[in-house]
Amino acid sequence: MKCEKCGAELDPEEKYEHAGQTLCEDCYLDIKATPKVCDPWAVYTAKKEVGENPTLTPVQKKILDLIKNSGPLSANEICTELGIAEQEFRNNFTVLRHMELAKATKMGNEVKYTTFNSV
Ligand SMILES: [Zn+2]
Repeated sequence: MKCEKCGAELDPEEKYEHAGQTLCEDCYLDIKATPKVCDPWAVYTAKKEVGENPTLTPVQKKILDLIKNSGPLSANEICTELGIAEQEFRNNFTVLRHMELAKATKMGNEVKYTTFNSV
């Protein structure tokens, strides 16, 4: 068995799997430490993880879709529209806020909720 990157002989006990490749410890740690630009697969995988991975719960997704399509909305409007309790909305909104997907904005005397990138 050989490392697919540097060709070093591998002890089956010391092999590492990365992106479908069998690697020696050195090559594996090298990839893990610095995803190189010349390793398009590693960069692609890293980007994909960040870009598509905000794993939202169905409720979070509904909130986000709603404020995307009809926002800014007040907490009341969102709760009524989605049929959820205000506490449930607040808990889920906190997650969206931390992911920088949604934010609160003050409009007049009211706090409204909208997508993070909108003005
Ligand atoms: Zn190697």
